[in-house]
Amino acid sequence: MLVTGASRGIGRAIALRAAADGFDVVVHCRSRRQDAEAVASQIRSLGRQCRVLVFDVADRQACADALLADVETHGAYYGVVCNAGIARDTAFPAMSGQDWDEVIHTNLDAFYNVLNPLVMPLVRRRKPGRIVTLSSVSGLVGNRGQTNYSAAKAGIIGASKALALELASRQITVNCVAPGLIDTEMVNEEVLQEALKLIPAKRMGTPDEVAATVAFLLSAQAGYITRQVISVNGGLVG
Ligand code: NAD
Repeated sequence: MLVTGASRGIGRAIALRAAADGFDVVVHCRSRRQDAEAVASQIRSLGRQCRVLVFDVADRQACADALLADVETHGAYYGVVCNAGIARDTAFPAMSGQDWDEVIHTNLDAFYNVLNPLVMPLVRRRKPGRIVTLSSVSGLVGNRGQTNYSAAKAGIIGASKALALELASRQITVNCVAPGLIDTEMVNEEVLQEALKLIPAKRMGTPDEVAATVAFLLSAQAGYITRQVISVNGGLVG
């Protein structure tokens, strides 16, 4: 099982939960190798195998090089969780082209960069497989100051649904999880106070609560669930 952006936050929780559920895990990170190694140690202490891969999901060649080499050595993954992502929030008139591009590259282009090298190895396993992508309520309904992020996260939903159709007959499911406001480094204090007023549950979600939903979609029991978006949002969007 590969989890991108697993050195912290939601990705870390997904990786640890996958290990607790009995999967060997490949922990991916961009730059925080020490944090990723700490997650890997925790996973090994649960009795599962774990290795760390380091690359930038926005770098197409780096993704292909690292992933194809890893699959060649260790075999195709049963599951891939495309979790790595960034936000660069600014009202649209003031948004720089760089903020637009970085968010599209790191969230949406990464769908292609990570999954394209992995899909054929997954199909050739001739066994059930799982792909889970991370969108956001911003991708479902849009959010002020997040035109770049909303576009990328909506794009991930479309791409996930299309890929689900291509892979369904191979017993490979593709589903998308769309979190609301989750307590990680991505959330800043200003956004938090405004958003809490709008969340019916009156609190942020936890990374473990998102990981629990991802874990179900990764499980054998979820084999007939594909092309779906499940939002974990405390009632923020119905
Ligand atoms: P986070 O900032 O804590 O973690 C993001 C992870 O992605 C980090 O491990 C980071 O290193 C990695 N990453 C970022 N850019 C990368 C790159 N170019 N290459 C490789 N790795 C990169 O954020 P999080 O809250 O844990 O977010 C995880 C996912 O959940 C993201 O896709 C995010 O958009 C989504 N999400 C988060 C929230 C929230 O409220 N926290 C809400 C909706 C969706």
